[in-house]
Amino acid sequence: MADARYDLAALLRKTADLAVAYLSSLPTRHVGARGGAAAIAERLRVPLPSRPEDPLAVIERLARELDPGLVASAGPRYFGFVVGGALPASLAADWLTAAWGQNAAMHVMSPAAAAAEDVAGAWMKELLGIPAETSHGITTGAGLANAVGIATGRHVVLDKLGWDVEARGLYGAPEIEVIAGDEAHATLLTALQYLGLGRDRVTRVATDGQGCIRAEPLAQAVHAAASKPVIVAAQAGNVNTGGFDPLSAIADAVDAHPNAWLHVDGAFGLWASAVPRLRHLVGGVERADSWSTDSHKWLNVGYDSGFVATRDPVAHRAAMAATAPYLIQSGENREPSEWVLDSSRRARGFALYAALRSLGRDGVRDLVERCCTLALRMKRHLTAAPGVTVLNEVNLNQVLVRFGDDDARTRAVIERVQTEGVAWMGGTVWRGKAAMRISVSNWATTEEDIDRTAEAILRAAR
Ligand SMILES: *Cc1c(COP(=O)(O)O)cnc(C)c1O
Repeated sequence: MADARYDLAALLRKTADLAVAYLSSLPTRHVGARGGAAAIAERLRVPLPSRPEDPLAVIERLARELDPGLVASAGPRYFGFVVGGALPASLAADWLTAAWGQNAAMHVMSPAAAAAEDVAGAWMKELLGIPAETSHGITTGAGLANAVGIATGRHVVLDKLGWDVEARGLYGAPEIEVIAGDEAHATLLTALQYLGLGRDRVTRVATDGQGCIRAEPLAQAVHAAASKPVIVAAQAGNVNTGGFDPLSAIADAVDAHPNAWLHVDGAFGLWASAVPRLRHLVGGVERADSWSTDSHKWLNVGYDSGFVATRDPVAHRAAMAATAPYLIQSGENREPSEWVLDSSRRARGFALYAALRSLGRDGVRDLVERCCTLALRMKRHLTAAPGVTVLNEVNLNQVLVRFGDDDARTRAVIERVQTEGVAWMGGTVWRGKAAMRISVSNWATTEEDIDRTAEAILRAAR
């Protein structure tokens, strides 16, 4: 390593070759992992080296040894969970993010990172139907965005009663009534768990066949808590069905309460706002008080990238900001870490900005709409076969499939598809029944990918 710069350039070029080779293999490689963590750890587990090793050799070996444990989730036939790939511009911006190595905590540490978060955040609001005057933060994902939104609501409803929750905690505080659907996402409950609001103390409201909150019992629950501060957590996009809580009716109920906050978890469903023909699904979303979403799901920004916005910038900042003498605040500038849970942080705004700019409004609309059209195509292929039932309405990008009326058979089909490796999707339990869960979320998925995947599924079912 006599000439460090020369070596670095060679290392990064070689690394780019490795990355390109991997990405080129995505359309054809086995979609699932072929090795488990234990076997891979066995290959990695040499005695901790006592001497330095050549960086290029380290990287080449790492790429080789990890390969069997890589899941082609960035590729076009991965339909597991709700997972996006990485748009070319966002991937490239992420490489630069690593090279630039900015700490996006404070403006003074990286005006560039602060600027990108500022502009990309405003674009996100414009696309997602969130009022422009809201505050925002770039998070690691929708899960922690939920925590930020609920923390802001916790501040607001207690502040109205003269209680400073950040300073005094919840000891002796007025009791908050938290209301969520019985299909609220697990991370919404972990947000309550972090914030002292209690995962099990929440009032769960009944949902319909698509997992959407029923407006009537929700309104009753809010009304019954008229004497308490209330936080309502609604959902745009159920992880199984893609169903949407009735946001307008929920906002009506919240408006009728003297001291209530409405948070919307829209990890992927909020992207319906970007498509005119889907916008009715999120009708009323602009009336919420806080919103969370993911960029690493449907927008196809590489992992990790989430987003939160709130209607009350003062409360948002009060709920999140740290103070210490060395934390130099520049006054008129936006301090990126004051809106999220983490302090030192990756400059996620660069990849987000690049993704949004490379797609434009039309590109985002086409991406979201295309996935929904492909989900319907999948449904059509599968339901044309005897004994295959789709359990949800397929209003979005999610398809829940059952084979016969048989849990064991449904699980066996999922396993067989995973083992064959043409595509990958997971299973779930929907309303007490095992189901295959297909989520079409990748920017690169084509009709041919859907056709090949449907063939693989029907082959496995036979
Ligand atoms: C994925 C998801 C989350 C959690 O998002 P992360 O990206 O895992 O933090 C929260 N809510 C819903 C509805 C989701 O689909």
